[in-house]
Amino acid sequence: MSSDDRRKVVAPRFNPQRLDTARRRRGWSRVKLAQEIEISSRMIRAYEHEGRHPTVETLDRMVDRLGFPRPFFEADDLEEIPAVGTSFRALSNLTAKERNQATAAGQIATAISAWIDERFTLPEPDVPSFPEVDPETASLAVRQHWGIGEKSVGHMLRMAEVHGVRVFSLPRECDSVDAFSFKLGRVPFMFLNTQKSAERLRMDVAHELAHLVLHWAGKSQGRTEEHEAAQFASAFLMPRASVISHAPRNGTIKDIVAAKHRWRVSAAALTYRMHKVGMLSDWRYRKTFAYLSRRGYRTSEPNPIAPESSDVLEQVYRLLREDGVSRAEMASQLLIPPAELSSLTFGLEAMPEDPAATAAAKPAWEGELAATHAAIDRRRRFRAV
Ligand SMILES: [Zn+2]
Repeated sequence: MSSDDRRKVVAPRFNPQRLDTARRRRGWSRVKLAQEIEISSRMIRAYEHEGRHPTVETLDRMVDRLGFPRPFFEADDLEEIPAVGTSFRALSNLTAKERNQATAAGQIATAISAWIDERFTLPEPDVPSFPEVDPETASLAVRQHWGIGEKSVGHMLRMAEVHGVRVFSLPRECDSVDAFSFKLGRVPFMFLNTQKSAERLRMDVAHELAHLVLHWAGKSQGRTEEHEAAQFASAFLMPRASVISHAPRNGTIKDIVAAKHRWRVSAAALTYRMHKVGMLSDWRYRKTFAYLSRRGYRTSEPNPIAPESSDVLEQVYRLLREDGVSRAEMASQLLIPPAELSSLTFGLEAMPEDPAATAAAKPAWEGELAATHAAIDRRRRFRAV
């Protein structure tokens, strides 16, 4: 097509919903988008609301500026993230731009999730709902439902995944978002900020679990719901009876820092919980907290635990590697840039792998895509625990 034609010919396929997602994912307003692709805001409205298609040249510019491949803008609608019920921590502190970036990332992650579900059998969703129960009781009810009694949770992220929660990482541009979650149909999704300490991440998983268990009834989320989620998370990771049996009675900071490993929580979280279950007086609690702050322990955890990541995604990538499917190929099937895939999946595709297996798989990466597709089409049962 000549450049003259590209200016005149209208793109035959174009999905305005996907333009909207790509624009929000970049954190751009409609005005900014119009400037970037050198058209009027009036035209953007025409694309979005009046069924107008851009010219081939304008679509090329969208591809170039927004950094998504052309087929991304031509495919069917992405899932919409439910507007009511989706939990955002520190809701009032988020700007519309930050919120938009996070929900656009969420939309793209639901497409990744669907892609994986077509090829693998993942754990069935099994997150019970206790909307009318107080957080402490609900945390015990979930533990009972999952058959873990009062045992410490070794790997909180895996615990969620084993019960069917689809877990993704938030891209770096969404650093001001702590975490959020929602359900699509019966499938729960969770998005986590991996820039925080390992202890905080575990607490975030338990906090988002709380929203799914207590609040997923289409309720909007406010201060009360945030408080309830914090109570649930604390109780879920540190059951009352377990804390009373094992936490150091009248313990020093050193005792608390040593004891926190049983529950794999922060020193501050254990201190809070010990006070809550009556093991620290108000005076001692305030004193301990002040000391933790002075030592910088509230921002930099003493004696930290190893970070947790997604077990499901790690296994999916391992199986795909065995089938010779590269990150680039997976991203191309998903119609997204490879970097987008990495940022939403904990960067796990870059995990070290067996060099012999990589060498054997290489030819399929480069040309035999049809064979590769056939190979990964077989569904596999996922290890449940
Ligand atoms: Zn929350």
